Amino acid sequence: MTDLLITNGTIITQNEDRQIIIDGAVAVTGDRITDVGSADRLEAETSPDQLLDAEGGAVIPGLINAHTHVSDIFLRGAFTQDRGLYDWLFNVKQPALFEMRPEEHALAAQLYCIESIQSGITTFVENDTALDWTDLEPTRRKLDVYDDMGVRNIYGAGIRDLVPDRGFEQLFEDITARDPRSVHPGSDALIVETEDALDNTAALIEEFHDTEGRQSVWPAPATLATTTSDALQGAYRLAEEYDVMTTTHVAEAKAEVRERGALSSIEYLRNIGCLGDRALLGHCVQMNARDVRLLARSGTAVVHNYRANMRLATGFAPVVSMLDTGVLTAIGTDNSILNDTVNLLSDAGAVATAHKGYHRDSSVIPAQKAFDMVTCDAAEAIGHAENLGSIEAGKRADIAIVDLDKPHLTPSPDPVHALVYGAQGSEVETVLCAGTVLMQDREIIPIDVSLSAVLADATATAEDLIGKAKIE
Ligand SMILES: [Zn+2]
Repeated sequence: MTDLLITNGTIITQNEDRQIIIDGAVAVTGDRITDVGSADRLEAETSPDQLLDAEGGAVIPGLINAHTHVSDIFLRGAFTQDRGLYDWLFNVKQPALFEMRPEEHALAAQLYCIESIQSGITTFVENDTALDWTDLEPTRRKLDVYDDMGVRNIYGAGIRDLVPDRGFEQLFEDITARDPRSVHPGSDALIVETEDALDNTAALIEEFHDTEGRQSVWPAPATLATTTSDALQGAYRLAEEYDVMTTTHVAEAKAEVRERGALSSIEYLRNIGCLGDRALLGHCVQMNARDVRLLARSGTAVVHNYRANMRLATGFAPVVSMLDTGVLTAIGTDNSILNDTVNLLSDAGAVATAHKGYHRDSSVIPAQKAFDMVTCDAAEAIGHAENLGSIEAGKRADIAIVDLDKPHLTPSPDPVHALVYGAQGSEVETVLCAGTVLMQDREIIPIDVSLSAVLADATATAEDLIGKAKIE
């Protein structure tokens, strides 16, 4: 029995041999892929309830966005000129997010999911670093939206439990002096007791983590500057207990490195037992060769947030040396304010191109590697290698069909090269997650909502938020 057959496509399997099947087909039953092979064979052997004609397009694994933020999407395009990381964080992001109501978080989630699906993304790891543990309504509303939209999501429940020391207070005061009119929530905003944060995270995992389904919750200590070693260790223990992972922003800006003096962020995490295959570290820009070796030796995965690093001028993460040393590395779109889009094919192309220029070496990060970083490598980095990241029988049916019949993709003798260097992201026509069609011919299926109404609501909400937070 076959529920659905995708046929007449170029199947970019991303299996171990990186096999590409011309005139191929993929059979799906329930939420799983049941067979992959030639279109002739599968059309003869199956009688599917639904047939999707890929019309010669590329059939690819659903893309995996390994580090992102959702609610911040309303700040897109605003206030990132001439601001460094902490300036943007303290004077723009925090004031605006502090004003957001649950229904506004839900609208942000809807806009985010639509953009994400239209870019071929089926799984994303959200870092909710502005989570207010005294009010989980925004979290619940967002998770409801993700469920309704049919996407696969990992919700990183942000933990901040470190009361700022005088040095951090001073940094906060110096930076917020730039925008005295903004409504700043304070340097100690969102800080909770360590035990409460860990207990509440465990409760969220128990409520939402579904090993067979599309949702999961991870403990997400926000940054090393705002989290105690007790919370970092507690988060890692929780990840082991519940068979999930942790995710944290690490070594993004130079300020974090200065705070720790002689001990690097990676050495600190190693010393407290928080490196390993349950850690997914976002950024890892300010690193030395020893840090990279520690990541490789411990099996710690990294998410490279290339466009955010460029926009905030934090620098080039040593991705090439990480890959050469065997560090599992994925790509994240990070904040849609800093990127400015949620578009992994575009980011994979930027990563593959920029590092060649930076190293003056055209052999670094080949197209195939960049594509791996948003598919099979990303699946492994988030602990889902068994189920996600490639088109193989037995894996979840998370699949995107990309239309290659475009002037800018003609000719495309090597489809992976075309996807990484040529595709803009908007060529994604059809998306399935867990066997359910989420988009067909660019039309979002699961929700009956007008796209123009969502866009108009988002624009008005963003204007309102910026006004309330008095961001200039
Ligand atoms: Zn981030």
